[in-house]
Amino acid sequence: MAFKSKCVFLDRDGVLNEDRPDYSYQLEHFKILPGVPQALQQLKEAGYFLIVVTNQSGISQGIYSQRDMEACHKYLQKECEGVIDHFYFSPYHPKVTESLGRKPGTLLFEKGIAKFNIDPMNSWMIGDRERDLIPAKQLGMRTVLINNETKSEGQWDFTALDLATAAKKILSK
Ligand SMILES: [Mg+2]
Repeated sequence: MAFKSKCVFLDRDGVLNEDRPDYSYQLEHFKILPGVPQALQQLKEAGYFLIVVTNQSGISQGIYSQRDMEACHKYLQKECEGVIDHFYFSPYHPKVTESLGRKPGTLLFEKGIAKFNIDPMNSWMIGDRERDLIPAKQLGMRTVLINNETKSEGQWDFTALDLATAAKKILSK
């Protein structure tokens, strides 16, 4: 049987960088959350691929461009020593175009699973909203909800305060 990889899929806004109500796309406002580079490094050292899956509907709504987003991703990679293996983004918004890629759709996760030969049963999704976790659960992954204590029950296996705590919990499993 062919060897399959394990992966931690990551939401972006509110997990890796500060979420902003008016979208995070200007480099000067793009703030990486404390402990993120170290937590990603630990997961990488434990053998996980690291793949970001992010809804960026501001692009199809004309609020910012794909280039703006890519500048933020380049900066994030630089601060994290290039540890992220891939970024998948959905530029669409239901007001403009429906998309299977937009979370809670599963398409971008399925692309990552195919490209990196990932075993979902050995993989995780970390997000700060339930719509991040629904597609991961559908594909058989385990999930961590971070920075969101609003509900007592949902599509998560664990909750954690931040990415550092989530990484610690994953690495102790
Ligand atoms: Mg988020």
